[in-house]
Amino acid sequence: MHIQSPKNVIVMLSIIISVAAFFVIGNHLTGQQFLSYAQTKVEAEAANDFETKQPEPVAEASSNADTKTEPATETETEETTDTKNNIDSEQIPDGPLIALTFDDGPSKTVTPVLLEELRKRGVVATFFVLGNRAERFSDIILEAYGDGHQIAIHGYDHKYKFTALNDKDLLWQVNTAADIVENITGERPTAVRPPYGAIDAATADKIDMPCVLWNVDTRDWASRNADKVAEHIVNNAEDGSIIILHDTFSSSVEGVIKAIDILSEQGYNFVTIDQLYAAKDLQFEAGGIYP
Ligand SMILES: [Zn+2]
Repeated sequence: MHIQSPKNVIVMLSIIISVAAFFVIGNHLTGQQFLSYAQTKVEAEAANDFETKQPEPVAEASSNADTKTEPATETETEETTDTKNNIDSEQIPDGPLIALTFDDGPSKTVTPVLLEELRKRGVVATFFVLGNRAERFSDIILEAYGDGHQIAIHGYDHKYKFTALNDKDLLWQVNTAADIVENITGERPTAVRPPYGAIDAATADKIDMPCVLWNVDTRDWASRNADKVAEHIVNNAEDGSIIILHDTFSSSVEGVIKAIDILSEQGYNFVTIDQLYAAKDLQFEAGGIYP
């Protein structure tokens, strides 16, 4: 039996280790494969992270103010070259523009139907949401935001006219609603509609975003009639119209969808409030009252 010297054993082991290391590096750790693996892992983690940050649906009866959600994602702030109010004017369609606005929501039953109909038509709008409803139905806010709609605010609870509040209560109504939306979408709202349209210059001056009223009033809350809502919109809409509706009535949704189909045929395009002011290159500043 041939017995190798200790020196030979060491040499043999060195060769075996070297060859093994060569195969490991050659087969498993080439730069391309490593990068590919790392990329896949990062994407998987990002996807997982996004899913875990989606808020759970909130029950209708729940009004727990502590169930605020994290921003959905931090990767949505793409840089654009020609922006105003974070709007890429390249994306704003040509032709006459209309801004549809919906107050008092979100509604658990009505808003999702509206979102689905708008999505089918590729139409965007602006939602002036109430803080106390946004925190209950954060999933609907996130859905609307994801569809490209502008999420603006209508105060926290619609209980008071802004003009009747002292400074502290006024800012609480505005900032609490803005905080709730920002916690859901990751984006601070850029416009507020005072409840009942009650605003004056002195009050607006205390608010750090523009106050947006309307120039076409459907009075949808009074008629609760889809045909009347549609007729009023079609008869009064023109380039630059800001139309007030409420996504708390099914009749408003039915009416506005009829109007959208008719006005689209006539060449109108639908934009958010921020897009409308950016497209028209009009002044739109905190402390102001518009239109
Ligand atoms: Zn309202």
